[in-house]
Amino acid sequence: MRKKIVAGNWKMNKNFSDGLALFSEVINMANDELHNSQQVIVCSPYLHLHSLVQLNKGNTKVALGAQNCHQAESGAFTGEISADMLASAGVQYVIIGHSERRQYFAESNATCAEKINIALKHHLTPIYCIGETLQEREAGTHFDIIKTQLAQATYHLSAQDFVKLVIAYEPVWAIGTGVTASSAQAQEIHAFIREQIAWQYTVAVADEISILYGGSCNPKNADELFAQADIDGGLIGGASLKSRDFIDIAKAFN
Ligand code: PEP
Repeated sequence: MRKKIVAGNWKMNKNFSDGLALFSEVINMANDELHNSQQVIVCSPYLHLHSLVQLNKGNTKVALGAQNCHQAESGAFTGEISADMLASAGVQYVIIGHSERRQYFAESNATCAEKINIALKHHLTPIYCIGETLQEREAGTHFDIIKTQLAQATYHLSAQDFVKLVIAYEPVWAIGTGVTASSAQAQEIHAFIREQIAWQYTVAVADEISILYGGSCNPKNADELFAQADIDGGLIGGASLKSRDFIDIAKAFN
């Protein structure tokens, strides 16, 4: 059975002490209120990660993720962080190809492919983000965009490696805008993604992959979104900055 996952993306928010305080609240609430079958992931800024890993020792309900990594093993890339560094600090997940990375840092599908490779090499689980812009949806090209984002960044992987991925469908027009895709719109794309994976690999591979929805997900709309057959959880931006909201979203699986 595929994993039910709620991952928080703090982006560039929370200074060090505020981040530690928020994470402590998340751990306590997760331990008190969540089932063992649910995986909660916190993707904090790099600076916080090692301390959060230490705070999290002994907990199984929460895991740590980074928001990006560099595609090279190591070297002269000032200001960057490697997959090896993240893994060696106890980080388990890494977001790759978030639309803000694509938009502001010119990340292409080809770069994402390299980042996925290095993440897998270091036993990090990539959370690979895909999704169309409003313009692309209005032009009716959203299915093609998603197909290409999947193919160019992941189809070089063997089935054995592909099943290690988590996919996040995040329509760009829904990220941070307060506009959520309807549960029907989200389900349509999630089913399409699973169908594409089944064609490229096998139905068994497609069935094993967790596909998360991201875009203005909150405690009010999570129930309906997570009730859809092909939605296995969420990638949560704004609402992950409030422990109560974040855990309430995770509880939508209860
Ligand atoms: C995100 O940035 O991945 C995201 C889903 O943000 P928000 O929940 O704020 O729309």
